[in-house]
Amino acid sequence: MQINNYLNRLEGNYLFTEIVNRTQAYQAEHPEAEVLRLGVGDITLPLPAVITDAMHRAVDDLSHAETFRGYGPELGYEWLRRKIIDHDYAPRGIRFTLDEVFISDGAGSDLGNLSELFAPGGRVAILDPSYPAYIDTSRMAGREIVYLPCTRENGFVPAVPDEPVDIIYLCFPNNPTGTMLTREQLRPWVDYALRHKAIIIYDAAYEGFIDNPELPHSIYEVQGADRCAIEVRSYSKTAGFTAVRCGYTVVPRATGLNAMWKRRQCTKFNGASYISQRGAEAVYTPEGQAAIRANLSHYKATARLLREGLQALGYEVFGGEHAPYIWCRVPEGYTSWSYFDYLLHEARIVCTPGAGFGESGEGYVRFSAFSARENCEKALKRLKNLA
Ligand code: PLP
Repeated sequence: MQINNYLNRLEGNYLFTEIVNRTQAYQAEHPEAEVLRLGVGDITLPLPAVITDAMHRAVDDLSHAETFRGYGPELGYEWLRRKIIDHDYAPRGIRFTLDEVFISDGAGSDLGNLSELFAPGGRVAILDPSYPAYIDTSRMAGREIVYLPCTRENGFVPAVPDEPVDIIYLCFPNNPTGTMLTREQLRPWVDYALRHKAIIIYDAAYEGFIDNPELPHSIYEVQGADRCAIEVRSYSKTAGFTAVRCGYTVVPRATGLNAMWKRRQCTKFNGASYISQRGAEAVYTPEGQAAIRANLSHYKATARLLREGLQALGYEVFGGEHAPYIWCRVPEGYTSWSYFDYLLHEARIVCTPGAGFGESGEGYVRFSAFSARENCEKALKRLKNLA
């Protein structure tokens, strides 16, 4: 038996384990200290009642003979796929048929699984810094990675690769830098992909954070993207589903990959749970929309508070406008990890060291707005006292 050595050789998930270890070590030495956690990218507000009520009803459905259901359709229930098409795409002039939308158990699974559509090996372009899953998934498949540096100098908007690649992972609004692209800035990526017959895997997990109506909510707002892009979305950050697990992926027929993905899903995925899909359906009701907008407004307000508060203290900050993340330059003389330690020890604040997201993340830390306003206010006060 030969094991997958690419998988075997992956480093451990150093970033988050190391953050937890350092925080726990500090907490063990200072059990009385109130540590403010502004590092993690997990939602903090409870699910709106309109969504949990829908899931309760779904549980009840399963307990009565008349409404009981077994396996659902592998692609997801039609009533949810119809809502996605009508609500998330049609108003922006994008048309998909039901069989182009695949309900998932969250973006994480599909971002990894989509790799199976492509032959082993090949070259993948990945933004640096980036959400770690794209890199790990590509390494597991033995692909060569072309890193595209996102720096202060290029406004965290990298240029398209100057060499041919097969797959491109894009994520906007971006984790960790909080950058958002305009339609004009997305255009060259679609042109590149069409020219090189590459596929863009567009991670729009933070789409709900886009405020400005001029900004593209979907890569399909760029003409031709239906021929070269797969879009991955999630209810996790938009609607608070990180524990529930539900999202969706659009694989347009025009990519030539739709039938393959369908075949793959029908074999390897028996569908997202009925309960979570009923929860997702409730997101599209008027009450659901109002409730998720209220939660998103809360996170956006804390992002603004952090962004403006940090700026007022003299930090150079980016993002935080169309994303829950604030990308903050560390003061002269620090690395991202040494500044992490400094903040933990001197201000009892946990952030995420930028270097953990890739080489170009060195010199930055990420603050997350998934936190109570009160915590952010306290953190800013502590930072002010450091100055
Ligand atoms: N994509 C990005 C950029 C993320 O930051 C995350 C989670 O933090 C995910 C995908 C995974 O989301 P899900 O909960 O839908 O698996």
